[in-house]
Amino acid sequence: MLQHFFNPSSVAVVGASQNPSKIGYKILNNIVQYDYGGSVYPINPKAQEILGLKAYPDLTSVPSKIDLAVIALPAPAVMDVLKQCGKKGIDSIIVISAGFKETGPEGARLEEELAIQAKELGIRVVGPNCLGILDTKSPLNASFAAGMPLAGHISFFSQSGAMCVAILDWALGENVGFSRFVSVGNKMDISETEVMLSMGEDENTRVILGYLESIEDGPRFMNAAREVSQTKPIIIIKSGTTDAGAKAASSHTGALAGSDHAYRAAFKQSGIIRAESMRSLFSYAMAFASQPLPKGPSLAIITNAGGPGILAADACDRSSLHLTPIRKETADRLREFLPRTASVYNPIDIIGDATLERYEKTLDVVLKDEMLHAVLILFAPTAAVDSEAVAMSIVSLARDADKPIITAFMGEKGVRGARKIFQDHNIPTYDYPDDAISALDAMLSYRRWLEKPARQYQRFEADTARVRQVFASVIKQHRHDLIESEAREILEAYGFRLPANRIARTTNEAVSAASEIGYPVVMKIASPDILHKSDMGGVRVGVADEAMLEEAFFDITSKIQVRQPEARILGVMVQEMIPQGREVILGITRDIQFGPMIMFGLGGIYVEVLKDVAFRIAPLSVESADAMIREIRSFPLLRGVRGEAPADIKGIRDALLRLSQMAVDFPEIIEADVNPLLVCPEGQGAVAVDARITIQE
Ligand code: ADP
Ligand code: MG
Repeated sequence: MLQHFFNPSSVAVVGASQNPSKIGYKILNNIVQYDYGGSVYPINPKAQEILGLKAYPDLTSVPSKIDLAVIALPAPAVMDVLKQCGKKGIDSIIVISAGFKETGPEGARLEEELAIQAKELGIRVVGPNCLGILDTKSPLNASFAAGMPLAGHISFFSQSGAMCVAILDWALGENVGFSRFVSVGNKMDISETEVMLSMGEDENTRVILGYLESIEDGPRFMNAAREVSQTKPIIIIKSGTTDAGAKAASSHTGALAGSDHAYRAAFKQSGIIRAESMRSLFSYAMAFASQPLPKGPSLAIITNAGGPGILAADACDRSSLHLTPIRKETADRLREFLPRTASVYNPIDIIGDATLERYEKTLDVVLKDEMLHAVLILFAPTAAVDSEAVAMSIVSLARDADKPIITAFMGEKGVRGARKIFQDHNIPTYDYPDDAISALDAMLSYRRWLEKPARQYQRFEADTARVRQVFASVIKQHRHDLIESEAREILEAYGFRLPANRIARTTNEAVSAASEIGYPVVMKIASPDILHKSDMGGVRVGVADEAMLEEAFFDITSKIQVRQPEARILGVMVQEMIPQGREVILGITRDIQFGPMIMFGLGGIYVEVLKDVAFRIAPLSVESADAMIREIRSFPLLRGVRGEAPADIKGIRDALLRLSQMAVDFPEIIEADVNPLLVCPEGQGAVAVDARITIQE
């Protein structure tokens, strides 16, 4: 896949220059300087020879076949070169040139024309507006980056050339080996999705890193990531996490959803590990590239200092790793050589006067205990021991270890040499224990992703014809918001449980409705103009008898007449009261990139303040539905506290899956809320007592 980009037999540089300050020189120089083995053709009508290579006036004058053309000419000249590529039978090109979409409408037009032409000629394009491509195996440095990393197993794709440069510089500074670098630029043709797939196929790549600003085709990206993440970890840093595009939305779900929720959900659902900062991108990359995945969550910490051990233990507490108590056999073995003041529990504190031997023996014992799945070694410089000697011994013990070993040697001057040793021998090393813990945590969650059973989807019977009918009538009336009774119909068509409900225009009608339904009842104003009924005094719960009912009827209608006189009133709803229901909110929104998105949260009036909600991209698998329910902070409230009966989690899951199916079946639903879904005690299901649905033609 994309072979001519990474492993071409011949490369032409169009716009190659003799002037070392020009990009066209730098690219050619990188190709030559970093030992590219194939044929290289500088293209420049004014030169005979560049960097000792024969130059050609144009592509068509080159006598042999060309696999890859790298173009570094001003934007307006690129089209002509593209046509030459077509004539010459070149199928892969990298357009380094800027001056396209990123500059405004004129550039966007140029880019569009270029895209159409390339497609017609069957030419694949990386860029424009990019830094180029590096492949350390070929080796090929078809970029204007300063330097070439060591050959290794990490690959990186990036939407920003500057990020490529930064990662490259880090790789050079820390001797981290890379397989491929791809700067995708404006992604006119080849996008991150295809690049990711090609890295998935590249046998030298073991870890894929990416920097993303936006995604073109969300579902396709998710499918690709799901596939690739089965064999290789994908670690992505996504910028634009704060939600600038927060729009005025009429539903709670709309107000709570931001595009970052969509990315977060999409990453979770396709096994992508998200790095929250450059620092964690680096630290995850180091750990994933050099260490085996932990087989389980048990972490052992070895330290020669109490404080850092406690810090690490705290960080561990915030992660999904467990600081498992050391079992007796292992503790006994440790006691054989550790001083009495040492702690053989976890963190294993081999105390301030720890010697090389003590580090060595302790690590050896810990590595042999298969109940411990990962080791973090902390070190604070002391006079008792030479940090470099400790590092060397860790390196040699790590050679045969089948569990991840990571290190945090704290300080600077006293540990510089040790850190260098770790870098040279592929042992991840961090300045602080927290970074080490989060890297291990990321490895554990990737391990769990790999162990996940195949996703299961459940389909429900639904009366889609009825839904279509309701939507058609709403659109015909030039509305977008469904009124209560319409929303009820939709939910009913999808098999939601609804409370019994009658609309009463008079107190007499209300009385007979209530006696049919049975007291106590709930009364609510029925009006197409009122969004939040209780805000207007339009809801009364626990109406126990006829007298209360008459009073409530009068009270509700008169309050509405005062507070919102222009509101059309259809009557008052008399509704079955659901006892002991815990309120949750479910919703649908649409994300530009990923499509329908499902929200779940604890309901009630504080939902927008607490923002304790979880999102997933539809269609939801059964596991995703379960995971999003458990993900919210207030999940313990649903399980029940202080003797409360647990809520019916299955009922929530069922409702989420039905909603997801509805969102996928009907793209015209742009926003919907079920708020609240009242969740009854375990085994008794959940009831949708209020819903809002907004559609678009
Ligand atoms: P709105 O959101 O427009 O103010 P709701 O229909 O959601 O109106 O009702 C407000 C609150 O009243 C709900 O959040 C819930 O606490 C309670 N409630 C509404 N309907 C019922 C019902 N059928 N059974 C029990 N409680 C209800
Ligand atoms: Mg409500």
